[in-house]
Amino acid sequence: MTGSLSAGGPIVELQSVSKDYPGGVRALRGVSLSIGPGELVGVVGPSGSGKSTLLHLIGTLDRPSAGRIRIRGHDVAGLPDRRLAAIRARWIGFVFQQFMLTDHLTAVENVATGLLYHGESPRRREALARESLERVGLGHRMLHRPGQLSGGERQRVAIARALAGRPPLLLADEPTGNLDSVSSAGIVRLLTELREDGTTVVVITHAAEIADAMARRVEILDGRVAADSATGPYAASAQGPGGAVSEAGT
Ligand code: ADP
Repeated sequence: MTGSLSAGGPIVELQSVSKDYPGGVRALRGVSLSIGPGELVGVVGPSGSGKSTLLHLIGTLDRPSAGRIRIRGHDVAGLPDRRLAAIRARWIGFVFQQFMLTDHLTAVENVATGLLYHGESPRRREALARESLERVGLGHRMLHRPGQLSGGERQRVAIARALAGRPPLLLADEPTGNLDSVSSAGIVRLLTELREDGTTVVVITHAAEIADAMARRVEILDGRVAADSATGPYAASAQGPGGAVSEAGT
């Protein structure tokens, strides 16, 4: 699946993507956005502006109503579910506000479950899970269960699970939404470090202090990209209120 990846191309590319939900809700309106390897992008905007919809589409959890989405150069809109599931399992890690850990499993076991569909042996899954927990700074909590961990540590376990298969893309939906400010700052630092390892990270957040820590900020308003702080090769097209697209920096 990596064969057609063009060197240096974007990890994520959306072209004029729209999403309509049943009942006439237009959640995204012609969004165009490119995200390069190793970028750390904060997606901000008020509740209901379309952030989660955007993340679901990038994560191939849902399909656009119109437009094109490419993940590592692969046009995912038209792929059958089976191929999409394979892309998700190999290339995309997900982190959610609610951690989504299994209470009766240890940290290692929780992380290893993230590798169930990778075709690895149980022993290899455990080795990768331990490695991933070390990477997020939880080498000393391998055998703790979620109930024995702080909120920040639980979110680190969830991040370790998302990263265990070394996906090139990590998507996080309000990852600090349930954390105090000290734990939040730790998670933000961790996300920044991942980026230094070359992982592309896209984070939805309400919190200004988190958005401020992101190298690039994309503001979503009423289903459109209202602003994008990118200046590099993947600088997006910010849309005017009428949907007109103007190239940033021109
Ligand atoms: P945000 O993440 O910024 O809060 P969402 O992407 O969740 O925004 O929602 C954007 C719009 O789409 C909202 O008006 C929301 O009510 C609507 N919406 C989201 N998911 C669904 C769904 N499954 N069915 C119908 N409407 C939805």
